[in-house]
Formats: sequence, structure tokens, C-alpha cells
Amino acid sequence: MNEETTSDKDRVIREILKNNNLCVGKLGLKVLARDALLLLPHCIQYSECPYRIAIHMENCTRCGGCVMGKILNLRDKIGFQMIIAPGGGFARRAIEKLCPKFIIASACEHDLASGIMDIKGIPIWGILISRPNGPCIDTCLDFAEIDNAVKKFLI
Ligand code: SF4
Repeated sequence: MNEETTSDKDRVIREILKNNNLCVGKLGLKVLARDALLLLPHCIQYSECPYRIAIHMENCTRCGGCVMGKILNLRDKIGFQMIIAPGGGFARRAIEKLCPKFIIASACEHDLASGIMDIKGIPIWGILISRPNGPCIDTCLDFAEIDNAVKKFLI
């Protein structure tokens, strides 16, 4: 059984993230899809997928083996920018390059909290992944949470 238990630190971070989203929600933002960035962790990709998508997400064949295909379909329909980040440094450089006005970021407690603290001046809506198989492998992201955030903030 690999499932991780929630540590006290994670519980504290979850409260911080909840407050962050409450504050961002109160801003009443409506952002053009092309000005919004969806930032995803590479660990939501099925670990036995033969395609490398961290840098070239178009390599995904949208086979249904993990959530990535559904997210790419949503991106194509709505038109937001999207990055699958192999690490925090890559994400930060991509944000500098793409200059989004709004970010929907999904990650584990630690990465989401450090990203929100690092990135100044851009509202970030955070979505936590779960780790039923332990850290950094076959993590789970609820597609409905992405879909709801897109509906709530993007035009
Ligand atoms: S949807 Fe299929 S092809 Fe795309 S990343 Fe997941 S397992 Fe790989």
C-alpha cells in the first residue's frame, strides 16, 4: 500500500491554499483564455505511457490512459496556454516567457505552496493533486476541478 497519509505540514498548506483560492475567487476575474496559463505537473501522466509529453505535449495520443488527453481536448476547445512542468525552475521560466495574466496551477501541497509564494503579481488558482501511489508517480488530478476553474475564470 503506497497511499500517502496527510502530514500536519500538508494540512497547514491546504489551509493556506484554501485561503489563497478564497482571495482569488473574490477578485471576480474574467480573463481571456489566451491570457491564462494552465500549469500541470508531469506526474499526472500515466507512468507507463510510452510517449514523452513533458516538453512536447502534442506527443500525447489522448488514449484515455490518464487525464492528460481530456485536458488537451479542453485546451483545444477553450484556447488557454498550457505547460507540463518537469520542475519549478522550468515553470518559472515558462511563466516569464508567456506572461500570463492568470494561472491555474495544479501540483502537490509543497510545489503549489512554493509556486504561489514565488510568483508575484499574477493571481493563481490552485488545484491539489492526490497521491494514491505515493509521491511523484501516477498522481491523480480531478478533471472536473480544471473544467470548473476554466468555466469560472476564462472567457
Ligand atoms: S492520455 Fe494516453 S497518450 Fe496521453 S499521456 Fe495519458 S497515457 Fe499517454
